[in-house]
Amino acid sequence: MSEVCNALGLTSLAAALPGLLEQARQTQPTYATFLDQALQVELDARKQRAEARRRRAAHLPTLKTLDTFDFSFQPSVPERVIRELAELTFVQTTTNIVFLGPPGVGKTHLSLALALKALEAGYSVLFTTLKDLAEGIEVGAATSPFQQRVRRYLAPRLLVIDEVGYRRLTTEQASALFELVTARYEKGAIILTSNTSFAEWGTLLGNEVLASALLDRLLHHAEVISIQGPSYRMKERAEKERPPSAA
Ligand code: ADP
Ligand code: MG
Repeated sequence: MSEVCNALGLTSLAAALPGLLEQARQTQPTYATFLDQALQVELDARKQRAEARRRRAAHLPTLKTLDTFDFSFQPSVPERVIRELAELTFVQTTTNIVFLGPPGVGKTHLSLALALKALEAGYSVLFTTLKDLAEGIEVGAATSPFQQRVRRYLAPRLLVIDEVGYRRLTTEQASALFELVTARYEKGAIILTSNTSFAEWGTLLGNEVLASALLDRLLHHAEVISIQGPSYRMKERAEKERPPSAA
């Protein structure tokens, strides 16, 4: 019987079958109940595999949650807005989120926390830095069409683009980013983090016209969260370096 299951691709059922049969001998379920239990084993295993695949495909570099985000340390982060975003309506309405601010204020942390929420809710997610995205789109530029190269960044319901602004883009990279934002416009939400104010995006992209067209699409339906405050990294460092209090 296991061979039939395997031939049909029901590999989890095949593996569980001896145990299921033994159990059935003891509990004597109806035929319908037994069949249902057996198929449920396969279904559950498939759901778990799909879930694991989706998590791997998201490429989250670390797991961060809102529970571990100290809102009192960073009062310019609007907690109510963040908690509302965590309800994930923005994914359904294809609203973008832009986190702006200097290094260490929690832009990546908040992006990762929202991305994890989306994953848990069953959405497909992809986390990438602008550098990796730009390089990823460029790879194979000579041989494969743009549509093909960009597909991986179009497919996920939520795309996180981290670290926009750390380096100037090449002309190809800038136009690839523009095409991507245009292609996702009103189709799939983007969370983007940047340490560079919008006014400087012309310089970043090396093209004022392109930058304003890109921002036009990115910000049409968007929640922009500007974070101003101290770096959490510096706080952690200061705490490590502080001599232990004499108590
Ligand atoms: P950014 O992306 O803005 O440079 P990160 O999100 O990478 O900053 O934050 C730097 C580190 O500090 C991370 O380990 C992050 O989890 C932590 N961190 C930042 N802000 C907070 C906060 N308000 N509460 C708890 N941890 C924080
Ligand atoms: Mg960051």
